[in-house]
Amino acid sequence: MLKDVFVTEEEIAAQFAIAAQIKATIGSGKTAFISTFGCQQNEADSERLMGLCALMGYGKATELESADLIIFNTCAIREHAELKVLSKAGALRKLKEQNRGLITAVCGCMAEQSHRRDKFLNSYPYIDFIFGTDRLHLLPQMVANVLAGKKQQVYVSGLPHDKFGVIAEGLPVVRESGYKAWVSIMYGCNNFCTYCVVPHVRGRERSRRSADVLAEIEALVKAGYKDITLLGQNVNSYKGEYSFPELLARAADFDGEYWLRFMTSHPKDASRELVDVMAANPRIAPHFHLPMQSGDNRILRLMNRRYTREQYMEKAAYIKEKVEGIALSSDIICGYPTETEEEFDRTVDAVDKVGFDMLFTFVYSPRPGTPAAEMEQVDHKVKTDRFARLSALENKRAEELNARFLGKKLRVLSDGGVGGIFKGRTGHNKIISFTLPDGAEDSVAEAGKFVTVEVTNTAAYTLDGVMVKD
Ligand code: SF4
Repeated sequence: MLKDVFVTEEEIAAQFAIAAQIKATIGSGKTAFISTFGCQQNEADSERLMGLCALMGYGKATELESADLIIFNTCAIREHAELKVLSKAGALRKLKEQNRGLITAVCGCMAEQSHRRDKFLNSYPYIDFIFGTDRLHLLPQMVANVLAGKKQQVYVSGLPHDKFGVIAEGLPVVRESGYKAWVSIMYGCNNFCTYCVVPHVRGRERSRRSADVLAEIEALVKAGYKDITLLGQNVNSYKGEYSFPELLARAADFDGEYWLRFMTSHPKDASRELVDVMAANPRIAPHFHLPMQSGDNRILRLMNRRYTREQYMEKAAYIKEKVEGIALSSDIICGYPTETEEEFDRTVDAVDKVGFDMLFTFVYSPRPGTPAAEMEQVDHKVKTDRFARLSALENKRAEELNARFLGKKLRVLSDGGVGGIFKGRTGHNKIISFTLPDGAEDSVAEAGKFVTVEVTNTAAYTLDGVMVKD
């Protein structure tokens, strides 16, 4: 099954050859700007797009206005995200008038929705091409076509008919950071939660080969990367040669100090084996994102989440018991269609009982084409009231939970500092500000270095501390 989804080496080589021709044609000094909206998967995709841009001879533009190639990598998860893209895409018209040679493109999840594609084609004629989430390896071909005078090209996979999508291995990557990296281990989703467009815009689950994933991680560790996040819509259903817990255990076995993280875990598939692997491997960061979405069983059924409140709470308890001090985070949707006050109260109660270090709380936003969009909607004011209530509770719980770090010495990956104040992240994914010991040079805590910090103050979402000797 695995081999069916892979783009052939010949196809990739053909794109590289086109990229080399473009590089010879456009000469030096051209730059590309990729504007990324939405999730980490889009950020990872943008880094691969930038890798292809580099292959075509485009440097990285520092600002949109000066770029010769602009790509909007879009998100369709909420209406708000889509409206933001549409408004920013409008500004491209002026830039195109000022620079006739400017090439503009839209890709990502919005490009996979026919009503959004039509909108781009009809209302934004200055967009040269539109391409879907699994067509990004064709970027050189698309740019070559524009240079040859073709306008308004559309490259999508034909979802949902061509519903499996593809995997393109071996693409170059230009990473945003020199010490934090995304590694996609799989693409797409099979779960069809009733509120979500992802299976419709990213196709069905398909997993990269375990050997390719592990080779990428090993190369990153050797290159000095310290914080590596494995990505998938539901990493627990990864189906390479290894299961996800086995893959994670092997990924945590290279020489060097580094953290591994993963996103996202569907609670129905988060296994005890995975938790046990985390507990046994200090290189796996003690942070678990487990989206609960609702604490009420009727709403969970309506969402097609396929776990109950009780099952969720049992898994959360096992994680907390096995991995000491672990930070648990979650997502909650407020005001799901038909949700009553009592049902929302049960969500509030579950959030209070589990105790999350971080909660991503969302007001429900109907997505065209999903079953939930056709259900009876909750009044907007009710949704925002619920959102405010839950946020207030979470602020209180996060503050209480963060107090457990007071006086503790934590390993911190520094993001660097200015004026003697440094910032970094802990393995628990906490933001921490810290100062250096007297007389220490700034270089001891430069960005990308691990340091030990004693926590001197805690707030709901931040920690403060002083760096100490290891
Ligand atoms: S698991 Fe559910 S919420 Fe997550 S991407 Fe798949 S359908 Fe969407």
